[in-house]
Amino acid sequence: MKAIYLDHCATTPVRAEVLECMLPFLRGLFGNPSSIHAPGRTARAAVEEARERVARLIGAKASEIYFTSGGTEANNLALQGTAMAFKDKGNHIITSAIEHHAVLKTCEFLQSMGFHVTFLPVDGRGSVNLKALKKAITRKTILISIMHANNEVGTIQPVEEIGKIAAEKEVLFHTDAVQTAGKVTVNVEVLCADLLSLSAHKIYGPKGVGALYIREGASLTPLLYGGHQEKNIRSGTENVASIVGMGKACEMALKERGTESKRLENLRNLLQDLISARLSGVVVNGHAENRLPHVLSLSVPDLLGEDMVREMDKAGIALSAGSACTSEKVEISHVLSAMGIPPERARGTIRFSLGRDNTRRQIEKAAHAFVHVVERLKVLSELEDSLGKRRCY
Ligand code: PLP
Repeated sequence: MKAIYLDHCATTPVRAEVLECMLPFLRGLFGNPSSIHAPGRTARAAVEEARERVARLIGAKASEIYFTSGGTEANNLALQGTAMAFKDKGNHIITSAIEHHAVLKTCEFLQSMGFHVTFLPVDGRGSVNLKALKKAITRKTILISIMHANNEVGTIQPVEEIGKIAAEKEVLFHTDAVQTAGKVTVNVEVLCADLLSLSAHKIYGPKGVGALYIREGASLTPLLYGGHQEKNIRSGTENVASIVGMGKACEMALKERGTESKRLENLRNLLQDLISARLSGVVVNGHAENRLPHVLSLSVPDLLGEDMVREMDKAGIALSAGSACTSEKVEISHVLSAMGIPPERARGTIRFSLGRDNTRRQIEKAAHAFVHVVERLKVLSELEDSLGKRRCY
């Protein structure tokens, strides 16, 4: 059976149109965009065209896009850059308990540097409470960083409202849109975002390139010092081929976003229905309505996510587990814990994330294989229990 890839939240394949655009810049068009000669000017023009394309995807101006090495760097630059630039104004940052580690670990680092960080709790569906957010803002708050959609369960946060609250209180608002840009509508004006993180490899672009949107007028302290590239905000010779690839990926995503998200939502709902109809006790995680259209997070109590992922992999189907099994213990994901999901349910969590190559036939096959895997693992787990041999808790 041809492999079925259902892990598009982890990464996506580079699409043919993107690769085609990139190749000339890995071959003959090798100029440095900072050089003033013809090869340099060709590279500069390509970088600037890519900047326009990225900006268009999120309703920004090209001059507000700063290329980085990916979503992780964009998040670090947004948080550390704001903290350092505004430390004389205040030392308080608000984020949520379910952010990607690129935000959470950066916040922990900032705490070690003397900043105060409020990690807002979320409800059982993974949504931040707006009243709690309003209450957390103080005169010392310099930044609110709340992700647009969660990468594990797909819950979309009320970012428009959060942006409005931030604007009213004159606090900068950053949102990590790595999982949403190119998938659902993202517009920096509608979101009132001052800073917004993007990554190319989630939208059929290359790995190792991303961007930070910085609203005109907002000034950040750089993380990297050097050759003054990206208006001094991100020094280092531009990764031209990857930037070009990111631009093309954004252009294609903008063109296809509407129809593709509807198609994926239908397929995701089909997957959910096929599994729910045949397996009792399976719980869907995340918000029922405000959820990424291509994501399905499921928990099967009393099984381990990693076991299901391994068995599905043997059947040629790639997906992700929600919690990791390390030696004898299962490390429960911080997202599922923060949502208050009990450990016996969190341990058995897996994530399907669909993408542009998935067909209805593939989804039917994946649902069928999953039901089979779960039934088999349940029999095995009952056997292990009866022998007192359950191996990993
Ligand atoms: N933010 C979110 C929500 C993500 O899902 C990811 C990657 O999985 C990142 C940030 C990091 O992006 P990158 O892999 O480009 O560093």
